[in-house]
Amino acid sequence: MNPGPKKPVRVRLAPSPTGSLHIGTARTALFNWLFARQNNGKFILRLEDTDKERSEKKFEKEILEGLKWLGLDWDEGPILNQEGYLGEFSPYRQSERIEVYKKYLQKLLDEKKAYYCYCTKDELEAERQDMIVEGLSPKYNGHCRHPDNPKAGREPQVIRFVTSETKIEFTDLVRGKVVFDGSLLGDQVIAKNLITPLYNFAVVIDDEEMRVSHVIRGEDHLSNTPKQILMQKALDFETPVYAHLPLILAADRSKLSKRYAETSLLDYREKGYLPGALLNFIALLGWHPKGDEEVMNPSQMTEKFDVKKVQKSGAVFNPEKLTWLNSQHIKNLSSQELFKLLSPELKEKNIIAEKEFVLKLIEVEKSRLKTLKDFIPQTDFFFELPNYEAKLLRWKDETLPEIETSLLKSLRAVEKINAKEFTAKSIKEALESIVDSTSRGQIYWPLRVALSGKKASPDPAEIGSIIGKEETEKRIKIALEKVTNTRENYYDQSS
Ligand code: GLU
Ligand code: ZN
Repeated sequence: MNPGPKKPVRVRLAPSPTGSLHIGTARTALFNWLFARQNNGKFILRLEDTDKERSEKKFEKEILEGLKWLGLDWDEGPILNQEGYLGEFSPYRQSERIEVYKKYLQKLLDEKKAYYCYCTKDELEAERQDMIVEGLSPKYNGHCRHPDNPKAGREPQVIRFVTSETKIEFTDLVRGKVVFDGSLLGDQVIAKNLITPLYNFAVVIDDEEMRVSHVIRGEDHLSNTPKQILMQKALDFETPVYAHLPLILAADRSKLSKRYAETSLLDYREKGYLPGALLNFIALLGWHPKGDEEVMNPSQMTEKFDVKKVQKSGAVFNPEKLTWLNSQHIKNLSSQELFKLLSPELKEKNIIAEKEFVLKLIEVEKSRLKTLKDFIPQTDFFFELPNYEAKLLRWKDETLPEIETSLLKSLRAVEKINAKEFTAKSIKEALESIVDSTSRGQIYWPLRVALSGKKASPDPAEIGSIIGKEETEKRIKIALEKVTNTRENYYDQSS
């Protein structure tokens, strides 16, 4: 048989704007986006905002902002014309599609595939309790399904779907063959009334109307899938291909809580993470490329991603890994790119410096940055020597006179260099001429502290080349002074 033309790939992200954009939604977005990009398909954004009480505009904005920050652009929707949005696609909103759902609800009612249920909450609860007592798993008993329903004429409570008691089977791209027993479901509530559809119903209509070919979503939706498939059958819709992504877990395999992850993805931006690093990290939550190379940009991910290779078991969220990836992505940026990213904060903190100077700082600090937020605290000493304690100058168990001798040696060495040739290379050479294999730490440690005032900092030759000869000598003299001033005190402490 001729299989006919392949269905075009159309996938969607369908977040409910009832909370912040969290890591799980971002991963669903990324996997859908990668799948669309790989298959020349379309990535659709649909806001599932039918729950009026819980949906909020601020969450909607946050979701859009987060997706844009990550660079996960969507491909469809009316083009917005408002200021700042020119040329961008507006997402679909379920709240704007009520008429569409109404049409299908009416159709199901007319075909007797759905019916009004008149049972009150109290009645349903009483039935539920009875079933539990009888040792049955509770479900709606189908009371109002019958045409001679004695409750008819009362106030209708909800609309229920005639849920057949068949076996429901589908092949999930991640989980393989999945089978559900329809007889456990009971007639599902699909709407409160004609203009208030519920989630499972609206999704089925939208996936059909938007010609969604693949539904890639979190495992928390797995139990919704059989219900949705039954509705698709009743409406003569084609069932899309499903892929359910594994849950994201904390290190101890418990539910991911605030202790491990930021509630909102945008908080990572505030903390100095790069969108590229987050995307890379999220990609590895449940999937791993072939080979050892884990650092990837979006185009490399698009090349390598394979939804069929996504794991079934929970994906552990490891914050240290995120930070490591962030440092790797920072390293891969050019100094100019980093300068652009760092500028707003420098401005905000009133740090005024020549671009050339900041670029030099970036060069020496780049490999030590874990997040963008490390830059200012890690470079403040270039602008102004912090006040530090003399004991920081001490290498191993050196005595004060030894520290003094070491600093004096360094001072003499740098004094010999011509101010115009005060480069990292010339400083290094000068220092190398006064150390031997046993005295490296002895010379380098106190000098590095003298120039930075910090326990951890770049190489003293690098620092010297940036602050210049005059400032270098001044800082060594300050260190020498500290040693002299604290001499007695120091001996007291170390005796
Ligand atoms: N609106 C659902 C949610 O926010 C997603 C629905 C779906 O992907 O089918 O979890
Ligand atoms: Zn009923």
